[in-house]
Amino acid sequence: MKIYIITDMEGISGIWRPEQVQKGHPEYEKARRLLCEDVNSAIAGAFDGGATDIVVLDGHGGGDNFILEMLDERATYETVKNSLEVMPSLDGSFNGLMQVGCHAMAGTLNGFLDHTQSSTSWFNFYVNGRKFGEIGQAGAYAGVFGVPVIMITGDKAACEEARSFFGNIELVSVKEGLGRNRAKCISPKLAHKMIHDAAMKAVQHIKTGAFKPFILKPPIEMKLELCRSDYADEYATRPGVQRLDARTVRKMIENPREIYCW
Ligand SMILES: [Zn+2]
Repeated sequence: MKIYIITDMEGISGIWRPEQVQKGHPEYEKARRLLCEDVNSAIAGAFDGGATDIVVLDGHGGGDNFILEMLDERATYETVKNSLEVMPSLDGSFNGLMQVGCHAMAGTLNGFLDHTQSSTSWFNFYVNGRKFGEIGQAGAYAGVFGVPVIMITGDKAACEEARSFFGNIELVSVKEGLGRNRAKCISPKLAHKMIHDAAMKAVQHIKTGAFKPFILKPPIEMKLELCRSDYADEYATRPGVQRLDARTVRKMIENPREIYCW
């Protein structure tokens, strides 16, 4: 049983201030430890549920957040290769995808540090008319390989978003946004137990066929509404990108794997 785990930082337990996810900030160095602890909890739970191979992606801000010596020695770790190989080792031999430390899409009320890709330049992102965040994008990417999303951890808003995309999967809410920049948290210690147990349950349930891959059928229209027209000026110069109006660009793709390619 092979499990792929992607990670972000905004939805990690014990992270409740924006500085904690900003590389270079002293608070960030401490937050990296919190990230590793949530990741270890998911790995331990997955192994207890019957996983035999686990690969974990260090995803926040392009990677290099993990403190490798803190991490479970039974799993392997990687970072994004390029925009087409975002989860480099993922293929059809995997049985499930977990997303640890998620945040809600841009524009979510009480979503802690809600954003889609870029907090500064992306206003709204749509796929075939449906508003998408990073949770849905990862699900669509994994769906190409027939791999279903089986568990999400993050704030309450991220869990609700995951439910709307993937239905009945394991969800672990470790905090609730009090506006965008603050959150009400449970203790990391309790979160670790909850993440472990949910990961274990999720892996155990794979055998029952409870989880279905999230499949996007081509042709796929990606529409990106940017915060300012100068951002759209730049996007509009890229190959295959069409300008719809001052702030909006559009791109058609055939393979959902290209969902990160602009
Ligand atoms: Zn992040």
